[in-house]
Order: sequence, then structure tokens, then C-alpha cells
Amino acid sequence: MTNDFIPIVDLKSQHDSLISQINEKIAEIISTSSFIRSKDITQFENGINNLIGSNYCVSVANGTDALYILLKGFNLKPGDEVITTAHSWISTAEVISQAGGNVVFCDTSILDFNIDAAKIESLITPKTVGIIPVHLYGHPVNIEQLNKIKEKYNLWIIEDCAQAINAKYKEKQVGSLFDAAIFSFYPGKNLGAMGDAGCITTNDHKLAEWCRLYANHGGKGIHAFEGINSRMDGIQAAILNIKLPFLDEWTCNRQKLASIYNQELSSLGDIVTPFKANHVDHVYHLYTIKTSYRDELSEYLRARNIATSINYPISLPFLPAFKRLGHQHKDFPNAFQNQREILSLPMFPELTENQLHRIIDTITQFFTN
Ligand SMILES: *Cc1c(COP(=O)(O)O)cnc(C)c1O
Repeated sequence: MTNDFIPIVDLKSQHDSLISQINEKIAEIISTSSFIRSKDITQFENGINNLIGSNYCVSVANGTDALYILLKGFNLKPGDEVITTAHSWISTAEVISQAGGNVVFCDTSILDFNIDAAKIESLITPKTVGIIPVHLYGHPVNIEQLNKIKEKYNLWIIEDCAQAINAKYKEKQVGSLFDAAIFSFYPGKNLGAMGDAGCITTNDHKLAEWCRLYANHGGKGIHAFEGINSRMDGIQAAILNIKLPFLDEWTCNRQKLASIYNQELSSLGDIVTPFKANHVDHVYHLYTIKTSYRDELSEYLRARNIATSINYPISLPFLPAFKRLGHQHKDFPNAFQNQREILSLPMFPELTENQLHRIIDTITQFFTN
């Protein structure tokens, strides 16, 4: 058995198989000097609509901007409160402040790491305008529970699908379940560009048109209002067009790897393998286990050339960035418990069976020694 380094995600192995197509396409773009708002952009937006089942896709520069633009599109005003999950990448929360609103954190479920819908109602005030749930690690949130709250309090919901492209809730693609959604094509995401890229999906024509203008200075030559520059780069769209047809196969590979991990690791006793609700398709952007021996296990794997990561070591309310809110660990008991036990293992579609079994064997050794 070799002892080669196993990374948490291996972008090079994916790109090696597509490199000649990508090089050819980039050379064509250079020869035509068509870099911005090219036909590749339109093709990509159509491709996303086809996949998601959405009517409109607005390509933008990255996933964080997509969230920010949508909040502006929902006309967020100073003092407005937006409820979001205590456990996510910081983008989900920082955009609420940047767009002028107040972020209100909700604790997560101990089971699936997503926003705990049962705890949302107690956070709603007359100033609450919307909710941003995150399909964390690729596991969809509970749609029915969130929809009930949305209807009862007349709120909008933006899905953060940055980690969940191609995930399904009762056969329906995430990104089509509420008012609007965002996706990120950051290189390490399940569909990754070779730089930053993101998009918005919605069925609301007016919202989509407003976002498209806002992301392009209020419309080139029109300037109906002041906007920003957040267009998707044309070369990134062209690269994503080459990759998109492989997404189903890549998702399937992730799911197969996850089921082998589940099977082999769940018998170890000291490990909790990722929860999956019966009616969802989990896309395993991250394969995240829980164990009370987290730090020792990650060190043991590292010493044997196997990478792991912690996503995320500090839940959002406890970050220095949100110190002003004065939150304590006891305010978010599940998020706090999870942050001490989570560990993400290597997960990418090109992970070989040999690599997978070396990881599993090493973890088994750790727990049996
Ligand atoms: C990656 C990510 C984003 C932001 O996407 P960028 O394209 O990196 O700006 C937002 N939310 C979540 C949950 C993410 O994982």
C-alpha cells in the first residue's frame, strides 16, 4: 500500500481529464476577444435553468455577490431582520449586514447540521423580513417546515445552494424550492470554475431582471439606477459549460463513495456518519462525520498522509466578526456541540477505491488500537 498524500479535494485530477477541451475553448475566446457577456454566458444560464427547473438564471461574479444582490433585490432596509443558520460559511451572514439589514442567527439541528426550523418561530419579530437557509454540505433543509413559517409570517426565503448543486428534495432540485436561490462555482464546489463565479435562480421575472441590471451598473447605456459590477467572467462560463454535462456522473460518484464510507465507518461505534433524510438526494459536497475523538483522529490521519478539514471550526455567532451581537455558547447549543465534533474526510468524484479503503482502514486502525 502506498503512502501518497490524499487531499480533501483533488481539482487537478478532474482538470487533467478535460484539459484539452478547456485549452481549446480558452484559445477560441482569446482569438475572438469575447470576454464579457458572451454567448457562453447565455449558454451557461440556459444550462442552469434546464438543470434546476427555474425560469430565470442570472450569472454573477461569485456566490457571495449573488446573495448580496438578491437581498438588495428584496429591498432590504435598515433595521430589517433576516434569520439565518448559526453554522455556515460566513458569506451567508455577512451579506445581510452589508446589504443594510440585521442578522439573526438560529441554532442548527444536531442531526443534519442545517437550520433547526423548530427554533425559527421564536426568533421572528415584526421586523423579520426573510430567511436564508443553507443546504449545508449538500443535504437539503426541511422544505415543508420552512414553507409553513414562510406562509404564516409572509416572509421571503432565499436558498443558499452554494454546497448543494444537484441535490434534491422529494425529486425537486434545490434552487427551485422557494422565492430565489444562489449557487457558487468557487473551484472547490461540486461544480467548480477555474476562478470565482456564481448565479441566482428564480421564477420571478421582475426580480431576475432587476438583479441582472443591478449586477451590471443598472444596465449598460441605461443606468436606470446605481448598481455594481458583478458579471460572471466569460471564460469561467465557458469552462463551466464544459463541466456541467459531467455533474450527474460526478454527483453519483460522490454518493457511491459516501455509501461505502457509511457502511464501513458506522460500525466503529465512536463515529456518527452523515445523516440523510429518506426523501432527499444528498450530494456530499463534504463528507462530514462526528466523533468525540475529532482532534486525535485528524492528527492520526495527517501523520499518515491523509488530509481532513473542519467546516467550520467556529460557528458564525461565535466569530469575532459577530462579537457585537454578544452571543454565548449556550445560545446555540447544537451548533456549539457540532463544531467540536465535526470532521470532513476526503471527498471528490475522482477519489479511487484504493484511496477510499486506505482512509477507511486507517480510521479503523485508529479506533481499534
Ligand atoms: C461557497 C459558499 C458561499 C459563497 O460563494 P463564493 O462563490 O465563494 O462567494 C456562500 N454560502 C456557502 C454556504 C458557501 O459554501
